[in-house]
Amino acid sequence: MTAALARRFENKVALVTGAGAGIGRAVALRLVEEGARVFAVSRGDNVDELAALHPQRIIAHRADVGVPEQIEAMVAACVERCGRIDVLCNNAGISHGGTPLHEIDLVLWDRIMDVNLRGAFVVLKHVLPVMMRQRSGSIINMSSVGGMRPAVGSAAYIVGKAGLNMLTRIAALEYVDHGIRINAVAPGTIRTPLVERSGAALIEFKESVTPMHRLGTPEEIAALTAFLASDEASYITGAIYAIDGGRCAE
Ligand code: NAP
Repeated sequence: MTAALARRFENKVALVTGAGAGIGRAVALRLVEEGARVFAVSRGDNVDELAALHPQRIIAHRADVGVPEQIEAMVAACVERCGRIDVLCNNAGISHGGTPLHEIDLVLWDRIMDVNLRGAFVVLKHVLPVMMRQRSGSIINMSSVGGMRPAVGSAAYIVGKAGLNMLTRIAALEYVDHGIRINAVAPGTIRTPLVERSGAALIEFKESVTPMHRLGTPEEIAALTAFLASDEASYITGAIYAIDGGRCAE
């Protein structure tokens, strides 16, 4: 990394949800590497382990983005501890797979929507007023290529991510005059604990259908996220960036 890149987030505060593992962890570490203070959120103690790596730079906070009251408390705690929010990475998400539509029970559907779509909306609802007061901010919603075109077996996940893409575009338009940029990153299949849990057979299949013949890394997603979060992306808002080893090109 060049010296100029290393300073992109100096004196900036980033709130990253789902920061304890996978993509969120890589985003948090990348922003710290480039000078940010990171308020890192997940439900479990993985986020404490992350904060232990950079105790001066990372504040760990436990919250479930599926619970609106916990989101309100999370944003208030971030502002209280850090004074501002320059970057939001709305990343926490869960998936389900291999379930035909008629077999998805309501509890599963609701939980996926509560975390992946309503959760992202409620985080925006509380972070936007903070950024409006600052008259600046950059938001990255972690979507999925799954939200860009239909696929069988993951209806709740895909519908939630498609909704997140539309939410991103609407929010970008509503807050453009407040100096706030809002974009989405749409990864293909990335080697994270979420994907590792789905098993070797699925990973092999995903590699075989990806033009680059491999899964992406969390660090590759973090690099795009950091670019969009930075002032280098000053003319970009309302965009949905696929990062998928070529899958969307087909
Ligand atoms: P992951 O490996 O499962 O990590 C998810 C992180 O989020 C963990 O730190 C987890 O910690 C936290 N988390 C989960 N549910 C949460 C909740 N309700 N509230 C707060 N934190 C929560 O997932 P990932 O693969 O990095 O995925 C991150 C995001 O990228 C998700 O939105 C996912 O949909 C999206 N994405 C991933 C892929 C992929 O191939 N990996 C592809 C496209 C999109 P706790 O369990 O301790 O809370």
